[in-house]
Amino acid sequence: MYKAYKFKLYPNDNQRELINKTFGCSRFVYNYYLSRNKEAGYKTPYTNIKDYTNNLKYEKPFLQEVDSIIIRKAIFHLDDNLKRHFNNNFGYPKYKSKYDKNSYMTSAIYGKYKDKNYCNIEVDLNKRVIKLPKLKEVEIRGYRNLDKINGRIINATISRERNNKYYVSVMVEVPDITKKEVREVVGIDLGIKKLITLSDGSIYDNNKYIEKYEKRIKRLQRELSRKEKGSKNYYKCKEKLNILYIKLSNARKYYLHKITKEITDNYDVISTEGLNTKSMIMKKDLSKEITDASFSEILRQLNYKSQLKGKYFYQISTYYPSSQTCSVCENVDKKYKNLSERTYKCNKCNNTLDRDFNASINIMFEGLKLYMKEVFN
Ligand SMILES: [Zn+2]
Repeated sequence: MYKAYKFKLYPNDNQRELINKTFGCSRFVYNYYLSRNKEAGYKTPYTNIKDYTNNLKYEKPFLQEVDSIIIRKAIFHLDDNLKRHFNNNFGYPKYKSKYDKNSYMTSAIYGKYKDKNYCNIEVDLNKRVIKLPKLKEVEIRGYRNLDKINGRIINATISRERNNKYYVSVMVEVPDITKKEVREVVGIDLGIKKLITLSDGSIYDNNKYIEKYEKRIKRLQRELSRKEKGSKNYYKCKEKLNILYIKLSNARKYYLHKITKEITDNYDVISTEGLNTKSMIMKKDLSKEITDASFSEILRQLNYKSQLKGKYFYQISTYYPSSQTCSVCENVDKKYKNLSERTYKCNKCNNTLDRDFNASINIMFEGLKLYMKEVFN
């Protein structure tokens, strides 16, 4: 199974110059052999490559400044387009212009150097860079929720869109993960008082270590506000605070990994709320920050763990009123928009149960609908 990751690329001046030069060479070779095809009839890509290495390369020495793989790819790309024309009645290939979208593709080459495995294309999502042949490290953006690319890199296509923005699309081969047979279904309600309520009735509370850090951070924040800005003590206090933030973030990750592992081990169709609408009504302070960070970390972990384990993961629509809907008769009661109502009592069928539990059941059914749509459509 192949998967493409497309990143926005932020080349520096030198890199941009080299990329543009490479587009130029790739385009030149494409157009050159296209015109030869028009004049002298079809030649196989191998004949063209031979012609390139024996003749064209010396006639146009600037072509030697770029990676020879890219020249080969351009020749094969032309051949694909010609064959599509001959075999499938596609239009005759057009000449490429520098004002169109420009791109070139480069292949991954694997090797070993001093006992270390090495590849000429590497993506580092922590440093947010991609290593590319000739360009070295280029800054990238995209896939904020991903730690690393899983699978073996096959090639990378560098492109410049008409709006003059640069992109790189990395093709990766991932082992086929067959989806597990679906037996267990679960809905997850994320909350402020109780962190996670599952539709099977189980609850994961907020972690007491996280609460401990929260208290200490709040105290230090107050302390910091009393200190003279720019003073020695101010910086000391700030440094302490930064260390606590990192500790908090690590404690959170560790705690949530345990929970998301359990959920993705035990369930096959997993659904959660969409974006968090609950924390939106919290006042802007540290607790809100912590809640937001926990929620997005839970979603991130559930998403990639489900993928790896062949489970189905859905985030239901933000507009679906999961806390206002009765999980038995589907009657909607706006009263439960208010978070302080802890028990859901249906004004139609009298169904009475814990508010978060009721929401998690609704979320489970919504997720099940999305699953049915995906599988049986
Ligand atoms: Zn009801």
